[in-house]
Parts: sequence; structure tokens; C-alpha cells
Amino acid sequence: MMSSMPPAELTLRDVYAARQRIASVAARTPLAPSPTLSGLAGARVRLKLECVQHTGSFKVRGAANKLSSLSDEERARGVITFSTGNHGRAVAFVARQAGVKAVICLSEMVPANKVEGVRQFGAEVVRHGQSQDEAMARAYELVEERGLTLVHPFDDPQVIAGQGTIGLEILEELPGVDTVLVPLSGGGLIGGVALALKAANPGTRVIGVSMARGAAMYHSLQAGKPVQVAEKETLADSLSGGVGLDNRYTFEMVRRFVDEVILLAEEEIAEGMAFTLEEHRLIVEGAGAVGIAALLRGKVTDLGREVAVVVSGGNVDIAQVLGLVQEYRPTP
Ligand SMILES: *Cc1c(COP(=O)(O)O)cnc(C)c1O
Repeated sequence: MMSSMPPAELTLRDVYAARQRIASVAARTPLAPSPTLSGLAGARVRLKLECVQHTGSFKVRGAANKLSSLSDEERARGVITFSTGNHGRAVAFVARQAGVKAVICLSEMVPANKVEGVRQFGAEVVRHGQSQDEAMARAYELVEERGLTLVHPFDDPQVIAGQGTIGLEILEELPGVDTVLVPLSGGGLIGGVALALKAANPGTRVIGVSMARGAAMYHSLQAGKPVQVAEKETLADSLSGGVGLDNRYTFEMVRRFVDEVILLAEEEIAEGMAFTLEEHRLIVEGAGAVGIAALLRGKVTDLGREVAVVVSGGNVDIAQVLGLVQEYRPTP
């Protein structure tokens, strides 16, 4: 059974398999040069633009791989997930294309526009509880009651392998990449990307970037085991939430593959978002901007010559970004 597979058995082969399976659903995204960041960092910096991916984030990769790995019987019964935003949207999108019924559990805290973003793709929305944890608990109940298959937002080998296809795409264009910066929350994204990169070259540095406000994986690494961290409001809302006290895959993968984790203040994240709009004319959400912000603030030393930054998503209120640009616009 895939679901009881320890992380050591998740290999580059699984990421290549994912690549084949998701090719018709997830787009290959651009790896765009950033002359200004390159100048600042003293290295050639490129941005992997998952903010222009279908549904506005990379989450469609893992969701597509998970759904395509289901048996006919599982597909007939349908899938379920819990999410506050990008993952729920991606699962709804992929499920509709695959003709699979999807149920998305959202807490009462999830704002109306995000609920609409999920309903837009025809998924059944179940509103439950006042927190992500309560929505998660309801999802697990519905797995039992209705025989649905859970599509975990990060702690699932198929989801991790799907996200890892970003690593393959980076390697194809930049085989000599020295350092890769990756936004970090539950660790499905960085786990998959690092697996692919380190299989090709164990010397490639993989750096996770989180917000200081509620960095669950960072504190778990410090503690040597998954720990509960209080959720706080942050510009990088897609990075908030826990790693799961019963974490099965991503905690070990992050511990094994990730060389360093950097934490950012809210103001630094805002600068990253403003810079990306001003300089690259791209709307990115806070979570998507953290790698750029880390470079802007010179937080990473020993970058080497070739650097890739995963810009993970763009689902943010446009008025909010425009407001930040007024405040944090880079001075020429
Ligand atoms: C989910 C998400 C992340 C974090 O991914 P994990 O696999 O949970 O570490 C980063 N950025 C965006 C935009 C996301 O939606």
C-alpha cells in the first residue's frame, strides 16, 4: 500500500511517474530571470513562477498526481480534503476535470471569496468549526461515513511526488543549480522538490523559507519532533497551519533534505510582494514572495552561482497587494 510507505521509499522514480501523470493537468511554468535580484545577490537568480499555474498555485500538481493514482473504485466514491485555500481549490479543479466528486471541508473562518473559489469548480463545500483543525476533524469523519478518499494537503507520498515535479523542471533548465529557495509550511512542496534536486546532485542547497509568525515546521525541527504551534495572522496565510502531530512523511523528509530554514518578519514579506509587482509585474501572495524577500534582505549566504526561487502562488486580494506597493515600493 502506498499510504503506509515510509519516506525512504519515496524516490526520484515516483517524481518522474508523477510528471507523466500530471502532464495534461498541470502546466509547465516559466523559470524567469531576475536581473535585479541577481545584481543584489551576486548570483544568477531565476524565479519558478507557480503563481501563473492553473488555480494560481503549485497545489494542482500534487492534487493531480494523487487523483490519478486512485483505483476506479476510489474514483467512483469520490475524494475529500480540508483546506483554507489553495489546496482545496486545486483538488476541486482537478476532480472536476477527472469527473470525480470532491468534498472540501472549510471552517467558518474561511472568507467568502475563498469559499467561492472552491464552489466555482463544482465541489461540495462543507462548512464546519472555527479552525482548520476542526475542519480537518470533520473531513476524517466524512472519510469514514461516506467512504471518500482523503487528499491530504501535504503529508501524502503522491502529493509530495506531484509537488516534486517542480524540482525536475528546474533541473532541466538549470542542471547546475547551486541553491534553491522554497516556501515552507507542511513541507510537501519542499520535500518533493528537495527529493528531486538531491537525487540529481546531493550538493545542491535547499533552503526553506517561512514566516516568523507561526512557523510550525521550524519549531518542530528545533524540537526534534512535530510540535503544535499557535496559528497567527500573517501575510503568508498559505504557510500557516500545523505539520500534524501524527506527521508521517514530510517532517522526516524536511529533516533529511533541507539544509536551512529562514524565518521572515511581516514587513520583509510585504517588501517581497511589492518588489515582485514593481519589478516583475507579477501579483504574488505572501507565501509566494518569501524566497524573493529572503534574497532582498540578504538572508542567504553561500548562494553559489545559480539560484532558483520557487514563487509558489498568486492567490491574494489585488487591493491588498496594491496597498502594500504604496507602502513598501522599492526606492530606486
Ligand atoms: C500550500 C502552499 C505552500 C506551502 O506548501 P507546503 O507543502 O505546505 O509546505 C506555499 N505556498 C503556497 C502558495 C501554498 O499554497
